[in-house]
Amino acid sequence: MKITIELLNNHYQVNTDFSWSLAIPLAFNHQQPNHFSADIAMAKTMQVGSFIGDTQQGGSCNVNELSLNPHCNGTHTETIAHICNFSAPLSKMISEIDLPTLMPAVLITITPELANQTNNSYSPDLSITDCIITRSALEQVLNHYEQEQCQAVIIRTLPNELDKQSRHYNQDNQPAFFSREAILYLNELGVEHLLVDLPSIDRLHDDGLMTCHHLFWQVIESTHQPSPNSLINKTITEMIYVDNQLSDGFYFLNLQIPAFVNDAAPSRPVLYSAKNIKIK
Ligand SMILES: [Zn+2]
Repeated sequence: MKITIELLNNHYQVNTDFSWSLAIPLAFNHQQPNHFSADIAMAKTMQVGSFIGDTQQGGSCNVNELSLNPHCNGTHTETIAHICNFSAPLSKMISEIDLPTLMPAVLITITPELANQTNNSYSPDLSITDCIITRSALEQVLNHYEQEQCQAVIIRTLPNELDKQSRHYNQDNQPAFFSREAILYLNELGVEHLLVDLPSIDRLHDDGLMTCHHLFWQVIESTHQPSPNSLINKTITEMIYVDNQLSDGFYFLNLQIPAFVNDAAPSRPVLYSAKNIKIK
């Protein structure tokens, strides 16, 4: 199916037969990515009375009970409720986020830099081993795009090794994160949905400050309450994997999320290529 999308003064053609998933397939009980040394995602056969949910053990059908930690076991999307009290009126859950079926999205590739070679900042202070995504690195690639194309920004970091699909991020293997300035720049651009192949936009051990999450949603730092200025419909998707065959550029994104009444859920972002066309 070919659909034509009008976005301000441009028309784009999207062929829905060709798409790319950015989700890491989650293999329960098997190899999977892990953040913060969390328990792995598990599947267990349901057993009630004489019923067993496993056709290979004589059951009529397969029924697994799943346990998972959305933030730590793989590709997931989170809302402002990740850092705000669930009971706060503006603390939107995943099930309450308004997502268009397709949204403009820009895919970029960034090499994180050693923090001491940049003038960017972070709270707590940057240490000599920190690797960060800076404002200038984002500016260099995103200034080729119009603001209306950047409703979603998808960031692939280099090196982009296949083992990101099963990597364990911990004290010995600390991932890159964003500087304050980088997030403020994304806010200036009006980015509503940020997707990254890192396990978090904040440092693994950050004294619990979650600085970049607070900046992105405009929640006052050190608080857990949205304010009237908070950007409550924005989302962050972490631990995606972007295949090396996919080129940087402009796409349309379908962000698929189950209606969990929770701050986060596993998700499946799907990209469609966009061909700029002239309409008479
Ligand atoms: Zn998360």
